[in-house]
Amino acid sequence: MITNLKNIKTIISSKGVKATFQRIKIMEYLLNNKSHPTVEEIFIALVKQIPTLSKTTIYNTLNLFVEKNIVKTLNFSGVETRYDVVAKSHHHFICKRCRKIYDVNVECNFLCDENKVVNGNQIEEVTGYFKGICKKCLNNDKALN
Ligand SMILES: [Zn+2]
Ligand SMILES: [Zn+2]
Repeated sequence: MITNLKNIKTIISSKGVKATFQRIKIMEYLLNNKSHPTVEEIFIALVKQIPTLSKTTIYNTLNLFVEKNIVKTLNFSGVETRYDVVAKSHHHFICKRCRKIYDVNVECNFLCDENKVVNGNQIEEVTGYFKGICKKCLNNDKALN
């Protein structure tokens, strides 16, 4: 596992960011919770361990991580900004019912390839997502019938 504190410290400092305790804890939460949390969710989870933590600190830390390309923001219409650790390019599925965002592994040979040239234009980023009803919600439907 890459999520021990020493490794997290290394990830952060290798990007030129001072690895403070709060930053390490925020990064640890993101690595352990691949649910694309909001600032609010991170705050609720961490304030129990770190009573001095504020939402502003989380917000500022995440902005710094985004700037240093450690974390990515996900902005989908109708939902709050979510945060995702920068990883291998992947796609997202958003459930219209529970608003959860899942990573999806689909074979999309073309779309997943960043740095492709299309019609002479160099692609640096691909934004897009799948929307529908997630399997959990589908199963809940089944359970009710
Ligand atoms: Zn759902
Ligand atoms: Zn993701």
